[in-house]
Amino acid sequence: MMICRDAQLKKGEKVIKTSTEAVQLGVGQDPTGALSIPIYQTATFRHPRFGESTGYDYSRSGNPTRQVLEKGIARLDGGAGGFAYASGMAALTNLLLLFKPGDHLIVTEDLYGGTFRLLDKVFSQYRLAATFVDTSDLDQVTLAIKDETKAILLETPTNPLLKVADISRISAMAREKSLLTIVDNTFMTPYLQQPLAMGADLVVYSATKFLAGHNDVVAGLIVAKSEEMAERIYFLQNSVGAVLGPQDSWLVIRGMKTLGVRLDRQTENARTIACWLASHKAVRRVFYPGLETHPGHQLLKEQARGFGAMVSFEVMDKSMAEQILNKVRLVSFAESLGGVETLVTFPAFQTHADIDPAERERLGINERLLRLSVGIEDVDELLSDLEQAFIE
Ligand SMILES: *Cc1c(COP(=O)(O)O)cnc(C)c1O
Repeated sequence: MMICRDAQLKKGEKVIKTSTEAVQLGVGQDPTGALSIPIYQTATFRHPRFGESTGYDYSRSGNPTRQVLEKGIARLDGGAGGFAYASGMAALTNLLLLFKPGDHLIVTEDLYGGTFRLLDKVFSQYRLAATFVDTSDLDQVTLAIKDETKAILLETPTNPLLKVADISRISAMAREKSLLTIVDNTFMTPYLQQPLAMGADLVVYSATKFLAGHNDVVAGLIVAKSEEMAERIYFLQNSVGAVLGPQDSWLVIRGMKTLGVRLDRQTENARTIACWLASHKAVRRVFYPGLETHPGHQLLKEQARGFGAMVSFEVMDKSMAEQILNKVRLVSFAESLGGVETLVTFPAFQTHADIDPAERERLGINERLLRLSVGIEDVDELLSDLEQAFIE
């Protein structure tokens, strides 16, 4: 089909390196030669003698298992330092502690509901102000800059409408005005999109999603581009202490080894499903940047090497949306995304329930909108499951 023509993955040297580096996480890192990095389940470390350290003192400050993940994500994203947290929200909280009362941020408007809640209900209490704009429109970003503005926090593609922000242009503009550019790269991962190479200063992840990839662990990551920023983040990580435990660090490492093959398959499946939805009579609109009709298609094609595995679509009415949620069998009706299993969510009632209803409606997160996180199952089986779910 015409609109689906160039939704395929781009191949390239950088891509191959990223998937190879992901596979090799932890290999050759342990003194015993253990191929899989052991889970160093310890709170503290014995010092050889007074004034000496093995390099590890206490697991909040540094743990060998966690460090494999931290150094690994820094390498994958091309940053000076990586940091692992107990959740994506813990990582975002740590990031926001870079700012002071009175500071102002410009933030993508249709972003992850939890990030909106954190800014709107928690950090607002400490007078960290935020203006939410459509960051796919550079003019809106520029117009929102005030004297107090310190950073631009982008989610791209957005959740759940998959709008695409121009990372290179926004970070160039931000740099000129001495603002930081922070990208929540959860939907793309370094395998598909590399914000630091395009000028961003910081990348943040819910590693719970595509990075870990198996719907079995909650985790967050930050990557800082410069040494100086890495030092500031490390100080905050160690001071606040919402670190990822060794067991969970190991699970994320284990999941990340297959990042490349999972995302190749997920992206391919998502493309097929988006094309199928686009031709379905009961579907009003499909939001998938891989479709040529999507406003962010061209830009994402330039700044990423694939379109990802998130597909949102609008059906005729709320009862149709409910019916689909009730009838799917292979696809699970569940919150979250990015794992090998295909999930469907109802953003207005789940992930974005904290956003004011009128604002939700304005953004297009209405009660007809469903969001799919496409997994690695056989795509024909996914299609037949969806097909039967559409039939009353
Ligand atoms: C899930 C998610 C988060 C929050 O991460 P948790 O691991 O659930 O705390 C942040 N940003 C995006 C884009 C997400 O999808």
